[in-house]
Amino acid sequence: WAKAEGRGRWAVYDPERSAADIARSALAAGLPAALDRDEFVVHYQPIVSLLDGAMLAVEALVRWRHPELGLVGPDRFIGLAEETGLIVRLGEWVLGQACRDARAWHRDFPAQPLVVSVNLAARQADDPAIVDTVAGALSRTGLPAELLQLELTESAVMGTAGEPLRSLRRLAGLGVRLAIDDFGTGYSNLAYLRRLPIHCLKLAGPFVEGIRAEEPDAPVDHRDERIVDALVRLAHALELSVTAEAVETGAQAERLRALRCDTGQGRWFGPPMPAEEITARLRGGEAAA
Ligand code: C2E
Ligand code: MG
Ligand code: MG
Ligand code: MG
Repeated sequence: WAKAEGRGRWAVYDPERSAADIARSALAAGLPAALDRDEFVVHYQPIVSLLDGAMLAVEALVRWRHPELGLVGPDRFIGLAEETGLIVRLGEWVLGQACRDARAWHRDFPAQPLVVSVNLAARQADDPAIVDTVAGALSRTGLPAELLQLELTESAVMGTAGEPLRSLRRLAGLGVRLAIDDFGTGYSNLAYLRRLPIHCLKLAGPFVEGIRAEEPDAPVDHRDERIVDALVRLAHALELSVTAEAVETGAQAERLRALRCDTGQGRWFGPPMPAEEITARLRGGEAAA
């Protein structure tokens, strides 16, 4: 037993837990300096048309090139950055980098307009200054607003006060696209869908995971497929496009296409990759045209 902060409160002493906590706080403590030292890098994952395989967009996914740990994924530090508030500066950096890269692609490959999709943390979306931040990134880089998409989770959209965020209207007013990330895993208070200018739903991985090719002998649970079918119909009735996340097999891609999903993202189409590899794909697309 060990005495926790606060008088009279006791916590179970767990050496493994506290080792993990120490590692966590060490990582958190290193975040601000890492931003100053330029240790973050943005990778991009293709978002592909399920109709013809064309790469229509890329999602910007941040990584930390940690001097000792190597490439650290966002699941290990985005939560920390949200808790400490650093997410506002980090998110602004990712947005700027993504807009710069997308602007260069648009300049070099004008025949293949590529949307760049950037994640907004709840804390960023909740701050009214986000509208100026986004407008500033667009004007500094010269990226056309319609080539930027912002991804928010359902809980971020609902804001801390449980009210759909007003700044989303102003963001949409800039001409950027808004997407709901991990759709189906949050509150699913669908009322916001008709009150806000949303352009795209990104269907969460777990639903996509349940989508498999028909196997004639094996008993198949069709519930995930029926959910995807219903969500796609709902989205299309509201004139939203649908991106399926975490597409890992060709069979999934085929089923999702049959279910009328518009685009897919996942290892089947390519993992998150450095900007140069996206450039190489665009060059390949140019050669094919
Ligand atoms: P997300 O926005 O839902 O991003 C999709 C995640 O799915 C990415 O994880 C991606 O690498 C992963 N993924 C890609 N293909 C597959 C697949 O075939 N199967 C499966 N199961 N997963 C796949 P990643 O890169 O580790 O990012 C994790 C989360 O961190 C993101 O989830 C997003 O919520 C957050 N994140 C990443 N970059 C940023 C950022 O710049 N700002 C903020 N606020 N959050 C970020
Ligand atoms: Mg996302
Ligand atoms: Mg997602
Ligand atoms: Mg997510």
